[in-house]
Amino acid sequence: MRLYSSLSRQIEEVKPLDGQTVKIYSCGPTVYRYIHIGNFRSFMLGDLIRRILRFEGQDSRLVMNITDVGHMTDDLRDTGLDKMELAQSDEGLSAMQIAEKYTEAFLKDGDAVGIGRADLYPRATEHIPEMIEITKRLVEKGHAYVVDGTVYFEVRTFPDYGKLSGNTLEALQAGHRQDVEVDPNKRSREDFGLWKKAGAHRVLKWPSPWGDGFPGWHIECSAMSMKHLGERFDVHTGGNDNKFPHHEDEIAQSEAAVGHSVVSVWVHGGFLRLSGQKIAKSAKNVVLVPEIVERGLDPLAFRLVCFGTRYRSEMDFSWEAFEAANTRLTGLRQRMADWSESPAVATRGEMAEDLDRRFRDAVADDMDMPAALVVLNEAVSSPAVGPAEKYRLLSSWDGVLGLDLERLARERYEAPPEVLELIRRRDEARAARDFGTADRIRDQLGAMGLEVMDTPAGTRVRPRL
Ligand code: AMP
Ligand code: ZN
Repeated sequence: MRLYSSLSRQIEEVKPLDGQTVKIYSCGPTVYRYIHIGNFRSFMLGDLIRRILRFEGQDSRLVMNITDVGHMTDDLRDTGLDKMELAQSDEGLSAMQIAEKYTEAFLKDGDAVGIGRADLYPRATEHIPEMIEITKRLVEKGHAYVVDGTVYFEVRTFPDYGKLSGNTLEALQAGHRQDVEVDPNKRSREDFGLWKKAGAHRVLKWPSPWGDGFPGWHIECSAMSMKHLGERFDVHTGGNDNKFPHHEDEIAQSEAAVGHSVVSVWVHGGFLRLSGQKIAKSAKNVVLVPEIVERGLDPLAFRLVCFGTRYRSEMDFSWEAFEAANTRLTGLRQRMADWSESPAVATRGEMAEDLDRRFRDAVADDMDMPAALVVLNEAVSSPAVGPAEKYRLLSSWDGVLGLDLERLARERYEAPPEVLELIRRRDEARAARDFGTADRIRDQLGAMGLEVMDTPAGTRVRPRL
């Protein structure tokens, strides 16, 4: 597959550096509140890339961090408060309990919108030694300096600073307003904290060579990505707002520490807007996954809503669009249930081959999901493709789409447990090419008054008419 790299500003082929496994790091949630559907549009990216790679027969490994310390309310000026600590005083729970509560909700809501679980969810608080290690290395190499227990990265020492976001040192300096308070300990306004000295009331703090303190937000992603994926890996995802300062600073820290480039392709997703505004807690327009269910809608329809727009573009959210996607999804599942009852065909027609090729091209082309949906619509309505072929195409494409298109096909006939057991044994026998046993079970089911069909979805039964 090919992806647009925000760094090279070009479409690039995704090839595993180790020749085997594509290694993907996705910036994950700060677990101090419920994750909204805007966040989920961005969090979907890593899994979607992995689904497409799997569809192409390519192995991958997906790591997504959980930020449970160090994400400040103001990351530009080092004057912010830690989001975890704020939530702690708001909710009367300890920071650890807050992290646990919202991590669990994040995973559950992610499941509901069909985001496959990552292979690993490293937590920031469990990687403090690694963050201290990189910080030490940066001090030793002259890229960082210590003032009164706080360690700053000296941006001036990394000439490539700005290569991702376009915020070059000159542009940054020119852009700084004079009235903004600056930390007097910094050598330069654009320097940023790698390790911060703990204030008197700080609860989340750890011992370090520079005294008690806590890590900056950006250093966690440098430490955890390189620890779990190596000093060179293939893909890094995040939302557009992560480009600066978060990823610009991650690049500076990681590359200055190891002395070479670390990430091959940087992928950034566009924002989801509600009534023209970006969805944000501060804008008081957040939509959470449980609200989808409360409205009687299927959370998986959120995927169809998202697939209507290229991932890099901003998109508007509306409940009308969601309802239309929900109706469409139910319709697709009903058709799949109908098609599943057609006898399977061994060969695939020319038209089906062509549609499959076009679907594969679309998803491989920088995740062009709108184009993939056009192909899907054509497949559904094409008279040149038989029902069993349609079933087989859509069930294969669903590996990428994640819409559970076979749900109604599975549920159409509610077989009692003893029938389900016979079906299971018959499918097993057929898979083992033990046709004698398969035929005997067919006769057994027939004697129970059931008609047995071999379909693309396996054995189906229905009461004989
Ligand atoms: P946060 O927990 O605030 O760090 O955000 C988690 C992720 O969600 C980041 O990758 C953001 O870029 C992304 N994000 C936040 N708001 C939106 C939005 N409205 N649309 C898409 N992505 C978002
Ligand atoms: Zn990150």
